[in-house]
Amino acid sequence: MRTIPRNNSLFKESVCTRCGECFHYCPELRLSLKIAKQEIENLIEGKVSHYVLLHCTTCFSCNLYCPNDCKPYQLILERWNDLYKQRGAPPIYRFVCPTIEHNLWQMLQVFMSSEEYLLINRWMNQIPKDSILLIGNYLHLLPFVFGNSKLLDNFTPVDLLDHWECGGYLYQGGYLDVVKHIAEKCKQDFNMWKVKEIVPALDAVHWMLTAVHPNEMGVLHNCEVVNFHELLLKKIKKSEIIFQNNLKRVVTVHDNCFSKAGDGRYWDSPRQILKLSGCKIVEMEHNRKDSLCCGFGSGASWNNPFRIVFDIMAVSKRKFQEAEATKADALITYCGGCLYLLWASRELFGNKIDVFHIIEIVRMSMGETIYYPEPHVRRAWDLITIINYHLLMSLLRKPFWIDKISLDEKILESKRYLGLRILRKLFDVPIIRILYRKGFRIVLPKMVTPRKF
Ligand code: SF4
Ligand code: SF4
Repeated sequence: MRTIPRNNSLFKESVCTRCGECFHYCPELRLSLKIAKQEIENLIEGKVSHYVLLHCTTCFSCNLYCPNDCKPYQLILERWNDLYKQRGAPPIYRFVCPTIEHNLWQMLQVFMSSEEYLLINRWMNQIPKDSILLIGNYLHLLPFVFGNSKLLDNFTPVDLLDHWECGGYLYQGGYLDVVKHIAEKCKQDFNMWKVKEIVPALDAVHWMLTAVHPNEMGVLHNCEVVNFHELLLKKIKKSEIIFQNNLKRVVTVHDNCFSKAGDGRYWDSPRQILKLSGCKIVEMEHNRKDSLCCGFGSGASWNNPFRIVFDIMAVSKRKFQEAEATKADALITYCGGCLYLLWASRELFGNKIDVFHIIEIVRMSMGETIYYPEPHVRRAWDLITIINYHLLMSLLRKPFWIDKISLDEKILESKRYLGLRILRKLFDVPIIRILYRKGFRIVLPKMVTPRKF
């Protein structure tokens, strides 16, 4: 794929005093000031990073710690982009590339129920109208979260896998040159559809469309982009969405990485919605600007491709420990990406705290019946099966470069995946599930990337 020029990086090298505060206060790294100063120096000079590029969970917090608003996070992304150009993406990353054969969405089709299949097909073949709800790649994995909810009567849901969440998860991994291509494709599609208003289900996508595409990629969209949670809140307050049930739950809130991008605007609406639904919120030790990653972001700082899954799970384990320490009875996420990762983690570590997407909370408050936890448990094991397949395949594969961003319909054609189906059936056998969990927990500490700090 040819490289097309992006705007200059947002990192303000001329204002950076190299004080190291960004990485010193980082909730993941907590580097000593001495090491933190050395690390920022190394990143600016393009020298080897011994800490940040190896253990960063791409959580955005360092931007909020910098006293001079230098945007050190964008410097990290630039350095990962440099590394990507040299060494490619790790073999296992193929599974989140919708344009490459045997990706997650293609493989998941063999496990989806006919109702789920119908839903996503409807969303994927929807004719876009003036105003659309972008479902996106993550909620595509969990169509039961929206289901046939009356909530969708308020929107025209559109689901395109080759928008890659408008480049959101590639951006976080530093695949910046690829994101530029995706931004151009999004613009082409939106223009072709003549869409006037876009409501992305993810705050991450809202940020990509309103800030990253125009400011970092040089791609300005000609339509209004409305924040989903702010819109939901407005509709609830105006009684366009009516809450019938007071849920009376004690919950804690997971603030996702992208939620830290919008100067705090993404933290408040989900909390207000929860309060209106009758939930009492108890905050985790790390919340809002200090929030810990669900684990997913840990894959960005890969070094040894085989350790990626274990690094992700180790970070996720810490998130659950914090959530359970609050004694809340449910952990609420307002990001679909975090949701599927948290559920896979919950199944592997045997956590007891309930995990809901905020849409499920809204639906229960509206008086709708949601099926819980069965579809989440089932999907978690579907995903664990697919990840195991890719983990094994990654032993035989080399790093790669993403050379195609548009989806070839053939890729989504259903395949038999006999081996995958057998493995999935095995995971339904209780004793195998128990043994797998035990084995995973024993192996995990030995497989995570060792830390020198
Ligand atoms: S980016 Fe900000 S916090 Fe980090 S070293 Fe530079 S001035 Fe200090
Ligand atoms: S993005 Fe998050 S984990 Fe990475 S260095 Fe910044 S604060 Fe730390």
